[in-house]
Amino acid sequence: MSKSIIVTRFPPSPTGYLHLGGARTAIFNWLYARHMNGRFILRLEDTDMQRSTKESVDAIFEAMEWLGIDWDEGPYYQSKRFDIYKDHIDRLITSGDAYYCTCPPERLEKMRKDAMASGGKPKYDGTCREKNLKWQEGAVVRFKSPLSGTTVVTDKIRGDIVFANTELDDFIIARSDGTPMYNLAVVVDDITMKINTIIRGDDHISNTPKQILLYRALGCDVPDFGHVPMVLGHDKSRLSKRHGAMSVTAYRDMGYHPDAMLNYLVRLGWSHGDQEFFTRNELIEKFNLEHIGRSAGVFNPEKLLALNAEHIRAASNEDLVSHVMPFFKEKGINAEPDEYLQGVIETLKPRSKTFVEMADGAQFYYQGNIIYDEKAAAKFLKPALMAPMKQLAEAIDQTDEFDEKTLEDIFKQVMADSDLKFGKIAQPVRVALTGKTVSPGIFEMMLVLGKSKVISRLNAAVQFMEKAAAAD
Ligand code: GLU
Repeated sequence: MSKSIIVTRFPPSPTGYLHLGGARTAIFNWLYARHMNGRFILRLEDTDMQRSTKESVDAIFEAMEWLGIDWDEGPYYQSKRFDIYKDHIDRLITSGDAYYCTCPPERLEKMRKDAMASGGKPKYDGTCREKNLKWQEGAVVRFKSPLSGTTVVTDKIRGDIVFANTELDDFIIARSDGTPMYNLAVVVDDITMKINTIIRGDDHISNTPKQILLYRALGCDVPDFGHVPMVLGHDKSRLSKRHGAMSVTAYRDMGYHPDAMLNYLVRLGWSHGDQEFFTRNELIEKFNLEHIGRSAGVFNPEKLLALNAEHIRAASNEDLVSHVMPFFKEKGINAEPDEYLQGVIETLKPRSKTFVEMADGAQFYYQGNIIYDEKAAAKFLKPALMAPMKQLAEAIDQTDEFDEKTLEDIFKQVMADSDLKFGKIAQPVRVALTGKTVSPGIFEMMLVLGKSKVISRLNAAVQFMEKAAAAD
């Protein structure tokens, strides 16, 4: 089949949030379209009126937007396309590829039960197949599947999959109320939307031969199919809530970078040598269908977390600013998207696995008065440190320069005068500046805090020590 342009699609059923497996399917189709300079279409398969909700549609949009998956066409809604399906169903009846069936549901149910009881596959027995019935109340429409031969799915990922046509039922394409069944609606949509590449979960593989027959009956080219293995949990069962959060946006709320999520989900089914870290652009550049694996990806939350840390480290400060703001707000930190914040981020980048951790680590930068961790204060803010800390504050106050070299020189002087090693001074200074014993490097942190905050925090620690000494 000659193709001028690749057209892919993502057709979620809006009956819940966008889960990891669905997101991966969306990403594969989107990446392939982007890689091939093609088009990516979004379609909502909302014909199940009972289970489809507006909330779920919104949740899908929100998740896609967060992941940065944009679409070129749509969103289309199947619920608004019944006329188009009806038209195609009529065409299939007219061409003799489909027929009305009036078999009573009770008889079909009995047939199904009998087949199950004897271990066979439930199959329609063809009672109405050659009756050439006209429409009547209660009639469904069935597709006339071939009675012999095979239908071959030429799968881009799994190779040829051969189905015996005797295995395929005269499946229903329209219910008695005229509404289309899933296989019919999907094929009509994919035809009318000119989709030529379909990448989807292998749970759909049994539908594919039926869909191929529908394409042929409608006189249309069969698209390329690629069926992707499911995502599994660590115990090799199908991924479920037991294995961790399933919804994509839950990871946003836990402080993940969307690029990390994108990277992780793609690697959960596709490889490029042994490369693990990919930027968004690298994925677009390198993604192909050839290297989608045939075995199921196993979801590993620790690996995702490690990859997230790597993406945070690699991101620009400007990019991180936009991501961390909500998390800072959540912790009550009133940060402005300014240079100060960029400095804060720069020091926290190498030590934050998530944006939640980054916001935790940023607290001290924005506090007016440092509240000392009790143990840290008892251990490090001791009377012996009063003089060196005071000397530090004064020396910093007196210098015009405020850079790493100057700070180092001042520290050296204080070390020499007090006969204390660097660590003996640095740790109390850390407590004075942050209230804690763990923080970014002393000098980088001081440079971000700025001269006046450093001096006032050192002086506050001196006062704290004075009070403690007086109370003893
Ligand atoms: N709506 C289907 C689903 O969510 C997708 C069907 C397809 O990809 O053909 O599983």
